[in-house]
Amino acid sequence: MKVLRMKCPFCGCWNRFPVDKVFVEQHVSDPKIKAFIPMYKPLEFIRCKKCGEIIANPNELIRIEKSSAKA
Ligand SMILES: [Zn+2]
Repeated sequence: MKVLRMKCPFCGCWNRFPVDKVFVEQHVSDPKIKAFIPMYKPLEFIRCKKCGEIIANPNELIRIEKSSAKA
């Protein structure tokens, strides 16, 4: 488990919440190549602590940006 920091798209407030790191297979044109993209899966519905809007949910995986991907 990991804690992800994400900026609320509604009010700009930073939120921290627990996520699982998952690997999603990416379909590429060459069938010999299997590409897996690391993504984050929220453990629950996450509401912004400031404005209360839902900013993440378990059904929507979050793509890891290169700049924030730290092992
Ligand atoms: Zn907010």
